[in-house]
Parts: sequence; C-alpha cells; structure tokens
Amino acid sequence: MSEIRLDPYISRYATRTQGMTASEIRALFAVANRPEVVSLAGGMPYVGALDHDAVAEVTRRVIAEDGNVALQYGGGQGHDGLREQLVEVMAAEGISGHADDLVVTTGGQQGLDLLGKLFLDPGDVVLAEGPSYVGAIGAFSAYEAEIRHVDMDEDGLIPARLGEHLERLRSEGRRAKFLYTVPNHQNPAGCSLSVARREEIAALCESEDLLIIEDNPYGLLDFKAELRTSFRELAPERTIYIGTLSKVFSSGIRVGWVAAAGPIRDKLVLLKEGADLCQSNLTQLVAERWLRTQAWQEQIATFRELYRERCDAMLAELSAEMPAEATWTVPTGGFFVWLALPDGVDARELLAKALNARVAYVPGGAFYADGGGQHHARLSFCYPPPDRIREGVRRLGEVLRTELELRSAIYGG
Ligand code: PMP
Repeated sequence: MSEIRLDPYISRYATRTQGMTASEIRALFAVANRPEVVSLAGGMPYVGALDHDAVAEVTRRVIAEDGNVALQYGGGQGHDGLREQLVEVMAAEGISGHADDLVVTTGGQQGLDLLGKLFLDPGDVVLAEGPSYVGAIGAFSAYEAEIRHVDMDEDGLIPARLGEHLERLRSEGRRAKFLYTVPNHQNPAGCSLSVARREEIAALCESEDLLIIEDNPYGLLDFKAELRTSFRELAPERTIYIGTLSKVFSSGIRVGWVAAAGPIRDKLVLLKEGADLCQSNLTQLVAERWLRTQAWQEQIATFRELYRERCDAMLAELSAEMPAEATWTVPTGGFFVWLALPDGVDARELLAKALNARVAYVPGGAFYADGGGQHHARLSFCYPPPDRIREGVRRLGEVLRTELELRSAIYGG
C-alpha cells in the first residue's frame, strides 16, 4: 500500500492555494514519456525542425557582439529591439500594433498570470470557451476567479451562448471581468472561430462593455496559411492580445508578449517587475536577432507543413480505426484534435486502459473548471512523427473497441 503523506505546511498556505493541484497533463507526463508509450498527450512543439546550428550561431553572436547588454538586467517592458520585431510577427498575421503597446513576458503563460493578477478579485467571473486552455484555467483559478464556460461548436464559441451568459449575469446583478478566447486553432478543441462570429462577439462585447483577452499562439500555424481577422483589429480598445514565439520559433526561449491599451500596459510593466524584475535579456536578444537575421517566415512554413502532415496522419487513422460512435474535430491548423468518445465512455476511466495499451491522451476534464469534458479526449499531433501517430491512434481504436464490446456484453448491445 502506498503511504499517504500529509503536508505539514498545509495550515500556513494562503487560502487561495487550496484548490491548486498539479494539472492532469503534468501528472500524465511521467507515464506518457516512457519510450514504449505513444504520447498523444503533450502539446510540445517539434523544435527538432529548427536549424540548431543557426540558433547556436545567433546565440554566439549575441554574446560576442552584445554581451554587456545580453548578460545584464533589462527594462520591465522588454527590450526595444525585440518589441519592434514582435510587431513584425503580428503584422505577418495582419495584426497591427506598435512596439510601445507591448510588454514582453515569460511566454504567453506569464501574460495570463499577470492579467489574472491585474483584473481578478476572488469570486470574479471570467467567461471562457468550453473547453478552454488548461494553463489559463490554472492561472485564473489561482486568483480565485469563477470560470464560466461558453459552449463551442466546430465554428468556435457560439455567440448566442455568450449572450445567454451575459443575460444570466445581468439577472444575478453581476458582470464578467473579461472573455478569454483562443480564436485560432483552439487548444484543446482544434477549431477556429469563424470571422462572422468574431464580428458578432466583438459587437456583443462592445455593447456589454466586456474586455476580451485574445490568446493567439497558433494563428500562424494555419495549414493553408489563411488568416482570420483578429479581435485586436475588430475591437482594439477592449482587446488584450497575447502572443508567443513558443510555437513559431522555440518554446524553450520563453518569449511571449501582451499588447494592450496604454493604461493596462503600464500596470502590466509594474506587475512584471514585481514578478521577475525583467525578462531574460539573453533570450530576448537571441529572439530579436533570430527574427532580424533569419528567414523566420520560411521556418514557420516548415512547421506548418510538418504539422499538416501529422494532422493528416491522425485524421486518416481516426477514420480507419475509431468505432462509428466516436466523433472528432477536423483542425485546419495548430496542434490538437478533440475527440468525443462514444456515449457513456468516461475519458478518465479509459485512460488507465489506454496507458496499458501504450498510448496516452489528455482526458477532457482537464479543460473545464466545472467538471465538464468527461467524455472527451484531447489528442495532439504536434510531437510524434506520422508513423507513431498512426500507431497511437490504432492502439486507442483497439482500446475503445474492446471497451464497447465489454459494455455490450455486460449491459446488452
Ligand atoms: N495559450 C495557449 C492557448 C497555449 O496552448 C499555450 C501553450 N500550450 C500558451 C498559452 C502558453 O504558451 P507559452 O507560455 O509557451 O507561450
């Protein structure tokens, strides 16, 4: 029997930490990372597709030519030269901005945390897609927000459902602090918000005076390089935009940014200074030089093609291997497929059997703050090569078919 160890410091922690637990994804990593397991669980970008020699040379030059800056503290808002380059990355997606609007953060994740710190008092309501990015749920929950999920379909968040939430809030005499959305190739649902809906949602937020947090790590990873109008373009004054280099360059370099109206930006700089004084100048300068001197758009095209091939492998194998009762989203970019399991199959319960069969996924419950997602699984196609993806889906198909046979034997077909 395993020993249950009580935490001797428990009575000393702040009340807000009570609900904090390791995310399901993290708990899964230890098993999912075993070599015999095909992991469709993690969301790690395939950085093996980067030219490592080129990154090494850029890094060497940063230190050789600009060492006194790279090895020193920097300003709280982030390095000027990097912010100018990040404006170019946004421009590649048709999103406008000025270097002054940006605050550089430790990945997009720190942006989420700082925004939670800036806006959320205990009990405040946040509206977010259902399902929603697990790291955002974690960040906002740490500030004791109440997260209410707005239903999605294959065209993303449903405006009418958002309207219903706003109506309900009004009847409760409450207001949401903001709407959190990942409009492009959403994590975990793998779908994108249609442009018509963006316009409708922007108008709704305008009439309700609701702020929008637009988190956009995957916009440049559209398989056909299609771009969709951003909330930042549609509603610049009420949109707080989060970008990151994690999926288009390197996640290890930890460079993200928030673009926001002046007063919000100023507060974020103060919060950033409180969190870590400043972003690492070394990684900022490496990112800046990478963007300034390398063909980064070509690199993104390489990533796009690589992920498209992996996604195709996953979709073809799902069609071949899944029982008829299962359905899934068909992504047009990004990293993820959202699988709806046949009626009654619980994704958490099935996971033990899947791991036994040497395949891992993330149960859908991780992506809801309210107990939803029980019958869904997130499958990622970003990291394993196509043949491993096919093998993983085959294993999962077999696990599911066995499960359904067992159920029909027990409960009748
Ligand atoms: N937002 C979303 C939707 C994500 O999927 C991720 C990474 N999984 C992040 C933010 C944070 O990424 P990073 O901190 O590496 O920029």
